[in-house]
Amino acid sequence: MKFISTRGGNEKVNGARAIVQGLAKNGGLFVPEAFPAVSAEELDSMLTMSYAERASKIIYKYLDDYDEAELLKACEAAYSRFEGPDPAPLVKIDDGIYILELFHGPTCAFKDMALTLLPYLLRKGCNICGIKEKILILVATSGDTGKAALEGFKDAEGVKIMVFYPNDGVSKMQKLQMCTQEGSNVNVVAVKGNFDDCQSAVKTIFNSAECAEELKKRGYLLSSANSINFGRLVPQVVYYFSAYLDLVSSGQIEMGTPIDFCVPTGNFGNILAAYYAKRMGLPVRRLHCASNMNNILTDFLTKGEYDTRRDFYKTTSPSMDILISSNLERLLFEVCGRDGKLTSSRMEQLKTDKVYKITPEEQAEIAKTFDGGWANEDEVVETVYDVFCDTGYTMDTHTGCAMKVAIDWFEKNKKDTTNMVVVATANPYKFPQDVLYAVTGNDVRDSFKGIKRLHAATAMKVPASLAGLRDKPVRFDTVVSADKMFDEVLQFIGK
Ligand SMILES: *Cc1c(COP(=O)(O)O)cnc(C)c1O
Repeated sequence: MKFISTRGGNEKVNGARAIVQGLAKNGGLFVPEAFPAVSAEELDSMLTMSYAERASKIIYKYLDDYDEAELLKACEAAYSRFEGPDPAPLVKIDDGIYILELFHGPTCAFKDMALTLLPYLLRKGCNICGIKEKILILVATSGDTGKAALEGFKDAEGVKIMVFYPNDGVSKMQKLQMCTQEGSNVNVVAVKGNFDDCQSAVKTIFNSAECAEELKKRGYLLSSANSINFGRLVPQVVYYFSAYLDLVSSGQIEMGTPIDFCVPTGNFGNILAAYYAKRMGLPVRRLHCASNMNNILTDFLTKGEYDTRRDFYKTTSPSMDILISSNLERLLFEVCGRDGKLTSSRMEQLKTDKVYKITPEEQAEIAKTFDGGWANEDEVVETVYDVFCDTGYTMDTHTGCAMKVAIDWFEKNKKDTTNMVVVATANPYKFPQDVLYAVTGNDVRDSFKGIKRLHAATAMKVPASLAGLRDKPVRFDTVVSADKMFDEVLQFIGK
């Protein structure tokens, strides 16, 4: 399988190169030249497979320059780091509504689904491409990617990783998770501004020939662990297949019956993976894109205009506090007939005018699959509370946004009998104060008190990795402005 840029041109690379390089040379994102198909027979054959087996089978369809048997071993190793026998269990909470729990990995957010595997994909990718340089990974994070990437790459040979997060834009728990990170090859820096400032500054470094030259002099090649990297996207395609197969193998649906997914969305990576699964032949009917108050995607899906000229809100679902959703570029590319020039001009327009519009035909094409909805802060609280009271299930604030959107859908479509899978992206203990407040009405100042009381209220198991944070020393406390980020990078890797 070859990969091409969403912004046209004739760069055409194998999977290994796409992953090592992160971004296409013209600033576009790598996309597969065509969507590989999964046949009905193959779906059948996957029914009895483990998650790791399903993963290697799906991923190999894109990354056929890797070794399939070795890929399986890597998947087994990655998903053995998850708590419990199944890394992506499906929980039924009501007739027709299921929750796909993607937060059982080492850092308690769905980012682990890809970032436990990415180090292998990158290391092997370097081998395949014959790359001798050391790799420097730069990450811009709205909270969860940073920690998952640090945990995935800590002490990896030949790799250094540096994470930038918005100083006031992540939860206390997320900050503590990152600032106490262990490992000899890691660095964490807070940036003044919000996630979009952070992400654009990292993108600027990526697109700068000068920065690349400076790093090359020091023996480093830049790579990315953000969801612009295809190596992040492809492991995420797997759990949509796996959830579907679990519904079939447990007798909830017949093979071939379409289902819906509702996905809490920020950078559009998670839901885009669901779209890829559909394009590969998974029986998916609709994809519901759920936002918080930063509802730019809801507006885009209903109006066909992507307009970033709006207020930015800090919410209780910080990993979705994003106005510039990078992965939307991959969807745009598909719905405009894979026109790289057009996609490129829209991305330019977004940069200069802060807004772009798509055609009614493109909007109609998107609407064939996607709906958008959002939840305000009160609605998140009420939804988490209602579901807890009605079913005993506790969900985090991000998942709460998605659940609200799913419930709204059934309110509006009372006769709809299609099964809905709501994707749960974080362990509730990652946002203990907000979830405690939603479930009990109690407001506590301290995160660890929040954990204790949330446990008392729900009896849900507390992940050791979160409870243990209290006693870990803080290793990183640097704060810089966005224009000083590259200086920090150079300081980190040294002369
Ligand atoms: C990253 C994240 C999201 C948003 O996922 P995207 O792929 O950026 O759309 C939602 N919820 C949580 C908990 C996250 O960490």
